[in-house]
Amino acid sequence: MKEIKIKGYGKINLSLDILGRRENGYHDLEMVMESVDLYDDICIQKTNAGIEVRTNHKNLPTDERNLAYRAAQLLMEKFEIKEGVRITIDKNIPMAAGMAGGSADGAAVLTGMNQLFSLKLRKEELQELGLKLGADVPYCIEGGSAHAKGVGEILSPLKKIPACWIGIVKPDFDVSTKWAFETYDKLSEKRHPNTQRLLDAIQEEDLDKIGKSMGNVLEYVTIEEYPVIAEIKSKLMKHGALGAMMTGSGPTVFGIFLSKEKALDALNHIEIGGVEKWVQTLM
Ligand code: ATP
Repeated sequence: MKEIKIKGYGKINLSLDILGRRENGYHDLEMVMESVDLYDDICIQKTNAGIEVRTNHKNLPTDERNLAYRAAQLLMEKFEIKEGVRITIDKNIPMAAGMAGGSADGAAVLTGMNQLFSLKLRKEELQELGLKLGADVPYCIEGGSAHAKGVGEILSPLKKIPACWIGIVKPDFDVSTKWAFETYDKLSEKRHPNTQRLLDAIQEEDLDKIGKSMGNVLEYVTIEEYPVIAEIKSKLMKHGALGAMMTGSGPTVFGIFLSKEKALDALNHIEIGGVEKWVQTLM
């Protein structure tokens, strides 16, 4: 095998709660995550030596700052791989958007190189390595519907939520995950979502209740700085969403809809300059 093509899927959070802060600065989280069919196309080719990253995205670094690069480096060092790789990333997941685009690429490179170089690592071993790259990487290796705890690495699969369409809106600015967590830490009053109610709704396959039970503690932080997020949420709700929420540390907002037509109609009502919009399904 000389090359492998693999997709790195983005995610949305149906919930994100911060349970505490560790002494090393990491946060204990509780999240419900879903993979969406918005993905980066990754091609990994064997070369003679070194790591080369190519991408169609002008702002994406192609050196050690790129998680795909670091994923390749990790495996090449650990398994003393003498050959090299050329990784081509066709980026579709918006960046610094709360959709784990970097983690998705890192996860795809770990999974892809495991096959390309016949490393025979089990999924759990890949996830353990992935955690060295970032807290969302183990989830991205797993994908689908999951309940995550710890820093995001303790994963339990969940029932697939009932068929629905996801309207996704990305405002034209980035939010740094580090900034969102640091600002959250400084809040004197903290409001938490009812994750158990959301888990019950998923178990009961009640899409309406799922929409009503979503919650993200980082929303309060990010909305305070960027009120347009609240504006997008309320427009999605006004135009038929069963629930609407910011994903991750934002600024991307999504709504859950019963039909593709309803999702498209709601997105048409969002006339804010520079926003990017997608209508997707869950994986
Ligand atoms: P999360 O939801 O996990 O917090 P995010 O969607 O907010 O992630 P990313 O798109 O993963 O954020 O990117 C955050 C930063 O990571 C960017 O500033 C970017 O430079 C860096 N990064 C490194 N590798 C990648 C990659 N392959 N794709 C996107 N961003 C990457």
